[in-house]
Amino acid sequence: MLTINQYVRPQSLDEAYELCQKKNTVVLGGMLWLKMQSRLVGTAIDLCDLGLDTIEETADSFRIGAMATLRMLETHAGLNQMTQNALADSVRSIVGVQFRNCATVGGSLFGRFGFSDVLTLFLALDADVELHHGGVLPLREFAEMPVLRDILVRVIVRKRNIHVAYQSQRNTKTDFPVLTCAVSEIDGVYRCVIGARPMRAVVFEDESGLLSGGVNEDNARAFADDIAVRVSVGSNLRAGADYRRRLTKTLVRRALLTLGKENEPCKSN
Ligand SMILES: Cc1cc2nc3c(=O)[nH]c(=O)nc-3n(C[C@H](O)[C@H](O)[C@H](O)COP(=O)(O)OP(=O)(O)OC[C@H]3O[C@@H](n4cnc5c(N)ncnc54)[C@H](O)[C@@H]3O)c2cc1C
Repeated sequence: MLTINQYVRPQSLDEAYELCQKKNTVVLGGMLWLKMQSRLVGTAIDLCDLGLDTIEETADSFRIGAMATLRMLETHAGLNQMTQNALADSVRSIVGVQFRNCATVGGSLFGRFGFSDVLTLFLALDADVELHHGGVLPLREFAEMPVLRDILVRVIVRKRNIHVAYQSQRNTKTDFPVLTCAVSEIDGVYRCVIGARPMRAVVFEDESGLLSGGVNEDNARAFADDIAVRVSVGSNLRAGADYRRRLTKTLVRRALLTLGKENEPCKSN
């Protein structure tokens, strides 16, 4: 059981940041992961008064507050239009609607969980995160950093020419994923992200230019085979490493072919 001694609702990010520097404090998102832990917390810092529960669209980006929920990602028209519904695809198997109405973007990314569908997709979108103290940095960099005491303020997805597709494999519909895969082409750069390996998601690019002429059946298969060789996978109670490697081939190829269909001009190059 999670036991909290003191509950605080800071009125500014500075105050929240100051508080979280102290030992035995914890920042609260939707608390869905935290509440599964058995620990005694000195001070719980609830960010709910800081107006971070919005998705703001500007001329050049979407700015997703840390307290925005996974359900908001799933139902946001502009974000899903820009991502060909890949955002909705990435979260729709996470437990259920009531759960997604509570789980936050901040908690999902700050946790950098190995199984995270959310991390996989935002890495493929080449998103940035804004930390109160650490400033704006690429999510890819943040994902590799050790645990730190900072406040994740928002996630920023720049508006670009984005083509993206999402795939995951689960043993049962709403279980944790056995493997996650997102493939994107942003302004001509291909990225392939594999998560739930079961380790944290990793990003690959098309260094050898396999996809440079646009996606087709042959190069989708070749690229998928190449990623399956390069990716480091492991075993856990959901699946063995061999199965994950085989799945990598299938999911990367499927995601690429979906991307190729949506990206017809690229395909015909
Ligand atoms: C039963 C269950 C099944 C799940 N299945 C999946 C799944 O299939 N796929 C998937 O992708 N995810 C899954 N998740 C994870 C879930 O989607 C959320 O990512 C998770 O619950 C964390 O979000 P939260 O808002 O509940 O954060 P919390 O539990 O409140 O916080 C998580 C961590 O992030 C920190 N934190 C939260 N917000 C901030 C912030 N703004 N700044 C700094 N630190 C912060 C907290 O201190 C804590 O360490 C599952 C979770 C559970 C409990």
